[in-house]
Amino acid sequence: MMLSCKEATRLVSQGQDRSLGFGERAALRVHFAICRGCGNAARQLEFLRRAMAHLAEHDATAER
Ligand SMILES: [Zn+2]
Repeated sequence: MMLSCKEATRLVSQGQDRSLGFGERAALRVHFAICRGCGNAARQLEFLRRAMAHLAEHDATAER
């Protein structure tokens, strides 16, 4: 299964809200291997998501 950049982007953003299935993650990996642009975008998104989660955690701790 080959994803277009549009489909890959959609899967990445869906992955923020739900966990992707094995087939979906595999398809994304294949796409990232051939498409550097989407790979970079996904990495940045993941970095942002982690930073936000870390920040939320930090805020929760600070409020106590
Ligand atoms: Zn792409």
